[in-house]
Amino acid sequence: MGTIEQMIQKKAYELGYEKCGIIPINLMDEYAEKFNERIEKIPKSKMFYQSQQRLANPKQIYPWAKSVVVLTVPYGKYKVPEILNGRIAKAYLFDTRVDENTKEYQNNRVLEKYMQELGLRVETNQKFGVVGMRWAALQSGAGIIRRNNFLYTESGSWVHLEAWVTDREMELKETNNVVPCPKSCNRCRESCPTKSLCAPYTMSPTECISFLTTFGGRDLPKEPLSKTFGNCIYGCEICQDVCPMNKGKWKGEEEFPGLSELSSSLTPENILNMEEDFYRDNVQPKFFYLSAEDLWKWKVNVLCYMRNNYKESYKTLIINACNNENDKVSEMACSICKELCLQ
Ligand code: SF4
Ligand code: SF4
Repeated sequence: MGTIEQMIQKKAYELGYEKCGIIPINLMDEYAEKFNERIEKIPKSKMFYQSQQRLANPKQIYPWAKSVVVLTVPYGKYKVPEILNGRIAKAYLFDTRVDENTKEYQNNRVLEKYMQELGLRVETNQKFGVVGMRWAALQSGAGIIRRNNFLYTESGSWVHLEAWVTDREMELKETNNVVPCPKSCNRCRESCPTKSLCAPYTMSPTECISFLTTFGGRDLPKEPLSKTFGNCIYGCEICQDVCPMNKGKWKGEEEFPGLSELSSSLTPENILNMEEDFYRDNVQPKFFYLSAEDLWKWKVNVLCYMRNNYKESYKTLIINACNNENDKVSEMACSICKELCLQ
């Protein structure tokens, strides 16, 4: 039958998880130190990291916690709809954290129940995590962290991470055969459009496109970096797409539940014309970093995309958006009209 650690790992593999490691909670202490070092290194990231503080100090929130079970869930098997490729980050298109229709979401629920049946007290937070998950995965041996800050397994960086804290002292190392970054490689940093990835393993989160087009997007019309966003509408994966260690890792063989039906509604034109009800019912539940009241942010992001990839067919849409009832949408549209001399 094996130890309780082995039973959890066996169950995880049976469910289709790629990796399952278990580490003592104390191995998260060093993460708190790194976390503070990062704030010192990039002071403008302080606000961002303060909001993440709970991930660095899980023992304060879960004083009963003694170990962390951490798992990887590859998503490179899914087909990327052509019209969304490069515009909406794949991690969000295939976000299994919240989509109850996916096998991965259901597996998460099954594994939690299994651990509870083994007598463990466990806690997770499917949306936002209970610990610094890349650090936990690194400590568990599930993979390595590369210079672009992402955790890589044999599936490349195309893995979601899941973790539970538990009330039992446990430890079970995973194994991986992932080789380090080539010594001279700098491709991720060179390709970062905003230079947010400013040094190896060092990223200024408030300048990252993923932050600025999702939960950090407050005032894109006044954000000079928005001119560097290229094709990105929601999220950015350029530093992962260019990485040679991701070459050949995206298989794209399976349909993701409901995505092909939704994809035609997510073209730039259709987002700009999207009704609130449709957004609240069909889009927001999947892309939860923006709230039910935040359709305007999607529209601002799309206007930004239209400016950065301007073509004549966008002209009327941009001009019409100058009369949008939302001030930020109209401000963005008017500034583009001025900049591109549209009338
Ligand atoms: S996600 Fe995009 S903006 Fe953010 S660090 Fe990577 S390349 Fe730069
Ligand atoms: S692009 Fe190069 S340096 Fe950056 S993470 Fe990939 S292998 Fe490492």
